[in-house]
Amino acid sequence: MMTAARETFRSWFYRPWFLGLLAAAVSATLLMTGSLFVAMHQVEQNESLEMNAQGERFLARLEQLFGQLRESLDDLEAQPLRACDYEMIATLQQVSFNYRFVYEAAYMDDSRICSNRPRQEGLSLIRAPDIQGPTYSYWLNTTTEPDENRAALMLGRGNFRVATSRGHLTDMVDLSPGSSLLVVLDHGKRAIPVLGVSQVWPPTEAWPPKKRDALQVTQTRLIYRMPTDNPEYQLVLITPRTGLHIPAVWWWLVPASLTLGIFVGFLVYLLACQRQSLDAELTGAIRRGELQVLYQPIFDLDSRNCVGAEALLRWRRPDGSLTSPDLFIPMAENSGQIRQMTDFVLQRLLEQLGQLLRANPQLYISVNLAACDVMVPRIGQVMARLLTLHRVAARQIAFEVTERGLIDVVVARENLQALRDVGHQVLIDDFGTGYCSLAYLQTLPVDCLKIDKAFIDALGHDAASSGVAPHIIHMAQSLHLKVIAEGIELESQAALLSSEGVKFGQGWLFAHALSAVQFIELITRGRRRAGRRVEDEA
Ligand code: C2E
Ligand code: MG
Ligand code: MG
Repeated sequence: MMTAARETFRSWFYRPWFLGLLAAAVSATLLMTGSLFVAMHQVEQNESLEMNAQGERFLARLEQLFGQLRESLDDLEAQPLRACDYEMIATLQQVSFNYRFVYEAAYMDDSRICSNRPRQEGLSLIRAPDIQGPTYSYWLNTTTEPDENRAALMLGRGNFRVATSRGHLTDMVDLSPGSSLLVVLDHGKRAIPVLGVSQVWPPTEAWPPKKRDALQVTQTRLIYRMPTDNPEYQLVLITPRTGLHIPAVWWWLVPASLTLGIFVGFLVYLLACQRQSLDAELTGAIRRGELQVLYQPIFDLDSRNCVGAEALLRWRRPDGSLTSPDLFIPMAENSGQIRQMTDFVLQRLLEQLGQLLRANPQLYISVNLAACDVMVPRIGQVMARLLTLHRVAARQIAFEVTERGLIDVVVARENLQALRDVGHQVLIDDFGTGYCSLAYLQTLPVDCLKIDKAFIDALGHDAASSGVAPHIIHMAQSLHLKVIAEGIELESQAALLSSEGVKFGQGWLFAHALSAVQFIELITRGRRRAGRRVEDEA
C-alpha cells in the first residue's frame, strides 16, 4: 500500500504538468518572499536613518539649550541682587530677553517667589531636584499639561531658577505620537520623560546596551542614546516602530512574481515535455535498431599504424537525422537506459569485429563506460560471457571511464581493478576536464590517460607556448601511464605530441569514426595508412 503510494508520487515527478506547477509555485514563492524581505529591509533602514537624523537634531538643540540655561544662571548668580523687588523682576526679564531659550527666570527665597512671568505658577513646584549636580540642579518635566509654553526643563543655581518651554524643544524636532525624550538616571534604572509620554523602563533588553551604536532597534521600539558629557544622566529618544507595515511597492511585486513564476513553470513544462518525448523515443530506438556503433581508429603516432579503435554510439533517427551522443548519452544515464546501451555496444562490437580481433591479436577496441556501469560489477560478467562466446582475449577490450564517472571512488576502484585482473585495460577519458588530481590518480587502477581534445586544440593554435598538454604528458610518464591524444586535427599537433613522447593518437587527421565494414577494410587492406585520411561513414 505504502509502496504503491510512493510509486504514484514518484511517477508524478515524470509528469510535465506536475513539474511545471511545482516550478511555478516554488519560483513565485521564492520571488515573493525574497522581494518582501528586501522591501522590509529597506523600510527598516529608512526608519533607522530617520531616527538617527532626528536624534542628532535633538542633541544639537539640547546642547544649545543647556548651554544657555547654565549661562543665564551664572549671570544671575554673578549680579548682586538678592531680594524680590522691582529691580529683581527687571533683571529677570532682562535675562529672559537675552537668552532665547529662557522662557521663565525666577528668584525664590523662604518667603517669596518672583518671576519674569508673574501670573504663571510653573516654577512653584517645590520638590527636590531630579538631578543634583555640584553646581546646578535639574528638574525635569515640571509639568505634564500639554501646554506648549509650560516648562519642560528647569535648572537651578543658588536661589535662581531658569526654565525653558516645551516649544523650544519641539520646534526643532517633530516628536511623532507615542515617542518621547527621556532623561535616564541612576545608572539606567530610572527614566523621566522630558517630552512625550512616559515609557516602559527599563527596556526589556539589557541596559545599557552592549553595542556601542547610538541607535538600538528592538522588536517594538527604536531607542536612540545621545552621548552626554555628564555621567550622571543619559538622554534617550524613544519611538515606537511604525514602519513594520508592508510597503506599498511590494503589492506590485506580487503580480510580477506570480507572472514570472507562471513563466518559469511554463518553461519547465516545455522542457519536461521535450525530455519525456526524447526519453520515450530513446527507449524505442534500441528496440527498433536505430542505434549503431562506429569505430574511430587509434594510431601509433610514429609508425602511423592503426593499433585499435574506440567504439562510439550513433543514433540514426527514422528520418535519417543523427542525434549526437553528447545529447542522448547523458539522458540515458539519467534514465538508466545506459546499461542497455553499453550491453548493446559490447554485443554489437563482438558480433561485428569478433573475427577481426581473433585474426589480429594485437588489435584492441575501447568502449566508453558510464558512471553507473562502473558502480556495479555487472560489466565484467556481461563481458566474460561475450568473450567466451566469441573467443576473444580480454586484453583486446579496453574500457574508458571519465573522471565524472568516478563518483564513488572506493567502489569504482574495486570494479576497475576486477576488470584489469582479467586482462582488460582501463583508460581515463577526457583527462584534465574533471577534478582528478595527481594524488587521486595514483590510487586508481588505470593503464592509460586520454588527453581531452580541448588541450590538443591549444597545441594547434600556439605551438610555442603549448599549454597544459605537456604537463599532463609528463605527469602520465612519471606515473608510467600510457597516453592517447584525442581529437588530433593538424599534422603540427601530431608532430608536437610525438616529440613530447606521446605514442598514440586519435583524431580527424587520421580518421573519422568508421562503420565496422570500413574499419575491417582499413585493418585488412594493410596497416600502412600513413598520412592518409580515411573517409568518414557518418
Ligand atoms: P569521447 O569518448 O571523448 O569520444 C571522443 C569524441 O570526440 C567523439 O565524439 C569523436 O567523434 C570526437 N572526435 C574524435 N576525433 C575528433 C577530432 O579530430 N575532432 C573533433 N572535433 N572531434 C573528434 P562523439 O562520437 O560525438 O562522442 C561524444 C561523447 O559521447 C564521447 O566522448 C563519449 O563520452 C560519449 N559516448 C559516445 N559513445 C558512447 C558509448 O557507447 N557509451 C558511453 N557511455 N558514452 C559514449
Ligand atoms: Mg571515449
Ligand atoms: Mg574523450
